[in-house]
Amino acid sequence: MQHRRARASSNRSRQPERRESARVAPVSPRDDEIAVPAASLVRSIERLFVSAGCSSREAGQIARGLVQANLYGHDSHGVQLVPAYLANLGHGLVRAGQSISVVADHGSIVGLDGGKGFGQSIGEAAMRVAIERASAHGCCVVGLSNTHHLGRIGQWAEQCADAGLVSVHFVNVLSTPLVAPWGGTDTRLGTNPFCVGVPREPDPLILDYATSKVALGKVKVARDRGERMASGALIGADGRPTDDPSVMFRDPPGALTPFGEHKGYALSVMCELLGGALSGGKVQHEHPRPNPMINNMLSLVFTPDKLVGREAFARQIEHLSAWLRASPPRQGGPGIRLPGEPERTTARERERNGIPLPRSTHEALKTCARDLGIAGEDFMSNPSELE
Ligand code: NAD
Repeated sequence: MQHRRARASSNRSRQPERRESARVAPVSPRDDEIAVPAASLVRSIERLFVSAGCSSREAGQIARGLVQANLYGHDSHGVQLVPAYLANLGHGLVRAGQSISVVADHGSIVGLDGGKGFGQSIGEAAMRVAIERASAHGCCVVGLSNTHHLGRIGQWAEQCADAGLVSVHFVNVLSTPLVAPWGGTDTRLGTNPFCVGVPREPDPLILDYATSKVALGKVKVARDRGERMASGALIGADGRPTDDPSVMFRDPPGALTPFGEHKGYALSVMCELLGGALSGGKVQHEHPRPNPMINNMLSLVFTPDKLVGREAFARQIEHLSAWLRASPPRQGGPGIRLPGEPERTTARERERNGIPLPRSTHEALKTCARDLGIAGEDFMSNPSELE
């Protein structure tokens, strides 16, 4: 399947897709942001991880994965994570140069251990196994345990969709728990993302989100920008709803809430059980603290061919899409879009105008460079120069 999505490895401008109605508006960076071209950001981040001891291949995988999250507008999962990744590397909480080990192999059911390796390289290797097995058997269940942060989970659904495969991913997050169970007031769960990818030309449909109403990174972004959070997204340490993002960074901290009330909470429980327990990884209650950023993921990967056939499925996708888009749009709303489309609209705008990097993130990356012995003036020295 030809791959046409905007890629972090390149800053070539792409042809707008005919199917998408949303127009790409030029967006200027705010005063407290610097527009950085995706390609030069990839190079800078790659350099940091090579200096920290990763191979250039692994450093490139990490850099491209993070910058792709920025390109797609998920800044919470982009390069702002670099200082935490490097700190974890320094503390041995993530290991460079790991490869997957097979811990169970039943043909179309495979158990893999990520050896605390970088999620960006381990995830890609695990999905290669899933794709190979699903292509041979029609479907594959892969349990991937003990991997450092897998980043934007949609990346793994896209890898499967590029091979023509549907995929479903349940992930649990083993870090400081951040999310209150529905009906409770303290933190018991991670932000446990859930993701589904459906192949489609020219771009797949990708459902990819945390089971909390918002990701913690988005709360950080709001705190740094002095913004308030949407109502119902946070509970203070006193157990009462609040829109103040700083409650998450106090001692004792507040809690994120599950999206969709009991529905998101129930899905998060399934992420714990399928993504955590069934993958062979750990679940929250047995996770040792203080803690690293470990992810466990259960992926169901299969071909549409064996059920309704690829072409019949593709026709249904187009009919459904047309049916949905025929709904009169709500005034002032975003218009009718399909899962995965908002990210590609943002990627086209950011490919053109650069990634708006908060100055605080830019400074933090320069500090990482200095700590690794890269001369400050030599690192991201002219970030606003669009290539
Ligand atoms: P979000 O709330 O922004 O939701 C994004 C999803 O909703 C996408 O699938 C998007 O295409 C879809 N969407 C958005 N607007 C839409 C519209 N108008 N119509 C149709 N679909 C629409 O996502 P989030 O919860 O903030 O998560 C952001 C990222 O964080 C994800 O990539 C997720 O995988 C990642 N994440 C990772 C971890 C981890 O530990 N690795 C943990 C939590 C989140």
